Amino acid sequence: MPQLPIQQSYATLPSRFFAPTQATPVAAPRLIRLNVPLADALGLDSTWLAGPQGLAMLAGNQMPQGVDPVATAYAGHQFGHFSPQLGDGRALLLGDAPDREGRLWEIQLKGSGPTPFSRRGDGRAALGPVLREYLLSESMAALGIATTRALAAVETGERVYRETPLPGAILARVARSHIRVGTFQYLAARQDVAGLRVLADFAIARLYPQAAQAAQPYVAFLQSVVAAQADLVARWMLVGFIHGVMNTDNMAISGETIDYGPCAFMDTYKPTTVFSFIDERGRYAYTNQPTIALWNLTRFAEALLPLLAEEEDDAVTVAQQVLATFHTHFHAAYFAGMRAKLGLEGEQDEDETLFKDLLDLMEREKADMTNAFRALSHAGVLSGQDVAPAGLPPTFGPWLARWRVRLAQEGGANWVARAQSMARVNPCYIPRNHKVEAMIQAAVQQGDYAPFNEMLHLLATPYVEQPGMEHYTFSPTPDEVVPYTYC
Ligand code: AMP
Ligand code: MG
Ligand code: MG
Repeated sequence: MPQLPIQQSYATLPSRFFAPTQATPVAAPRLIRLNVPLADALGLDSTWLAGPQGLAMLAGNQMPQGVDPVATAYAGHQFGHFSPQLGDGRALLLGDAPDREGRLWEIQLKGSGPTPFSRRGDGRAALGPVLREYLLSESMAALGIATTRALAAVETGERVYRETPLPGAILARVARSHIRVGTFQYLAARQDVAGLRVLADFAIARLYPQAAQAAQPYVAFLQSVVAAQADLVARWMLVGFIHGVMNTDNMAISGETIDYGPCAFMDTYKPTTVFSFIDERGRYAYTNQPTIALWNLTRFAEALLPLLAEEEDDAVTVAQQVLATFHTHFHAAYFAGMRAKLGLEGEQDEDETLFKDLLDLMEREKADMTNAFRALSHAGVLSGQDVAPAGLPPTFGPWLARWRVRLAQEGGANWVARAQSMARVNPCYIPRNHKVEAMIQAAVQQGDYAPFNEMLHLLATPYVEQPGMEHYTFSPTPDEVVPYTYC
């Protein structure tokens, strides 16, 4: 067996941060998919991973010598209500491995059996949600959005019982760090200031080493996390991604998208869109995501207060000042993204109105968000040659005229180059929910992974049209719409 380059950095932290836990073996593991490029990037031998010993590890049946998994402890606000103890109830951290630049990445199994944090849960995952997480996280990565990655998916050969019996599966995922806002809340709720310091120092060293050099490292850490999450949520908004469960235990300090549950991409542009069946009040609706991110960051700042107080007499005021920068960061990332989506290089005061009017128009016209931006990304549309662009209703005419005036102010009539740069930021393929659902049904009901593999392939290059794949670009017809997601 090749030496696995996996260490367990988290286990060097105080033992109250985690519980060493073995996975529970499964009956008949079978590899669904291995992400070979990701394995390569982490120096993991993909031939070994796809072989019997690798499969035994990915299924939790037998860990190689030296891999000692832990379940990490965390707390969290779930739909606004604080739970002082959650923790990895169905996930195990196998350890971390370096990429070619020497940066460490954590490897987790999700669905590998009960842990001391499982409460009444079975510690398992159903096949459908595993495929959803695999596909959506890989799609997000291809869209250039910070996210956990999918390393492998394995069938367990066992059933899990939700409302009905379902095939079980395990996802192996990779992140820079799985530390959550809720990990800090866990220690803060126990007034464990020594623990908070250790965790913050660990997170700084791993994720934000420049903060360690700052005059006030913990203030700089808070500032870095605020900036990272503002940037992340701005990117979600630009592609119509709805996370669905932005509880504080599902927001990573690293600024990676984490814990894909009832998430989905919006088809028709409608700010109040919610997919998650359990989100009855729309707390985590598309348009609320920036507000919720700031709410979560405020909980993070509260947890950090004892450390901030070591650096500042008035820690609350300083925390508030740092939190107030969220809007600046969000705005900067969001408007930079919008300018790129609309082919603008310069910046003008009226741009924000131009963007808002476009979104209002999309909402009024019930336009498909992805397709509307894609339709704008054609040279003929940009130049005005194509006065009635395909895919946009005639009511877009006046807005298009304003946009062309604005484009003309940028000088240079190189419409082809501009269209190309727009097509590099406006995807033609997103994992549309009705297609994701059909993919899941094929796998669950017929054991047919062809749609899963096809979608993974397509979404790996989301800006490049592929012949014969137009049906993945269509907005669902009214009877195709899948309005709810479940986790
Ligand atoms: P989530 O919001 O889905 O990320 O999960 C919230 C909490 O419930 C976390 O502590 C999870 O580990 C735990 N959890 C979710 N599903 C299960 C399950 N099937 N078995 C045990 N714990 C679970
Ligand atoms: Mg322990
Ligand atoms: Mg979670």
